[in-house]
Amino acid sequence: MLTALTPQAPDKILALMAAYREDPRDDKIDLGVGVYKDASGNTPVMRAVKAAERRLVEEQTTKVYTGLAGDPAFAEALSKLVLGEARPADRLACVATPGGTGAIRQGLELVRMAAPGATVWLSDPTWPNHPAIAKYLGMKVRTYRYFDAETGGVDFDGMREDLDAVAAGDVVILHGCCHNPTGANLTVNQWDGVADLLVAKGSVPFVDIAYQGFGDGLDKDAAGLRHLVAKVPEALIAASCSKNFGIYRERTGLLMAIAPSAADLKVTQGAMASLNRLNFSFPPDHGARVVSMILTDDGLREDWAAELEEVRNSMLGLREQLAAALRDRVGSDRFGFLAAHRGMFSLLGATPDQVEVMRRDHGVYMVGDSRMNIAGLNATTVPLLADAIVAAGV
Ligand code: PMP
Repeated sequence: MLTALTPQAPDKILALMAAYREDPRDDKIDLGVGVYKDASGNTPVMRAVKAAERRLVEEQTTKVYTGLAGDPAFAEALSKLVLGEARPADRLACVATPGGTGAIRQGLELVRMAAPGATVWLSDPTWPNHPAIAKYLGMKVRTYRYFDAETGGVDFDGMREDLDAVAAGDVVILHGCCHNPTGANLTVNQWDGVADLLVAKGSVPFVDIAYQGFGDGLDKDAAGLRHLVAKVPEALIAASCSKNFGIYRERTGLLMAIAPSAADLKVTQGAMASLNRLNFSFPPDHGARVVSMILTDDGLREDWAAELEEVRNSMLGLREQLAAALRDRVGSDRFGFLAAHRGMFSLLGATPDQVEVMRRDHGVYMVGDSRMNIAGLNATTVPLLADAIVAAGV
């Protein structure tokens, strides 16, 4: 049987990580994988996470199974963090999932269960796991224009034009904030426009929010999503705690489904719990418990939010430094969009050949579409990257 398997296409980002590790150059720069790194290149455990883990080890009296939906305290705390005032408690179904990826997978399975013919609409470009999962599930996938390569911003007219073809019951995946890979984000007004369009079409938004707190702050990063949620009858939201709590390997995520009415809540919740049962039974609990402990303890929450602000501001600082270094070198603000982008990523707009030249001649590792992880930089490497970008003729 196993001899019938054919090789799967290697994950481009994981292949890039391996190539980076094998590169003997001392001044190589890793802008590949989407993990936050401090100025020394480390991804430390956040202070509040350490404290909550210590407390958990002391206080936890059992590791017996949780419910299929995970710990309700986690769902409550994280849905409040994401949805704030817009949280419709009587219409909100939640299940804990293995990371944000698990939430996307479970959410798409829920769509397929409810509306087998639905088309999944994705921004062009998007995080490659979105089309990969949807296609693996046998779902129809279409894309909408999103990025304006000329300005480095959102092509909102193109996006609206393409979404005009969305049918009732289709699902439109939107990045809650800090768009991956482009770094270009919708304004709150544009979120309003998208919400109106989707309501008019009768299609369902599915918001993937994996970087809350990495862009403009915890509440500002969720503002567009909250506007949308206040307007639409139904929505799906996949939240990840991997980045903003730095608990990548704990696999902590939440799928939220907003049902059209309180009467639909029970069946929705039941379907989501049953999908958990079918795929992995009980979701991982350790990270979820750490997150809910942090969010419901004033001291831990304050310390976590403060450390997250340090992380956010360090990325903003690197963006400013890189834009300034390029301004010095090219004598124009052509790369000003790098300072306007938000989150960990920016799409530089280099060709695959230029990306290859930067890797070969300068030891700069970025994804082939020229996505850069800004957190992979520090004050020393910013000028080196700026030199490489100019030398490669970007
Ligand atoms: N969505 C996007 C856009 C992402 O970039 C990521 C992480 N790379 C995720 C979801 C999911 O992250 P995780 O499964 O690690 O929580």
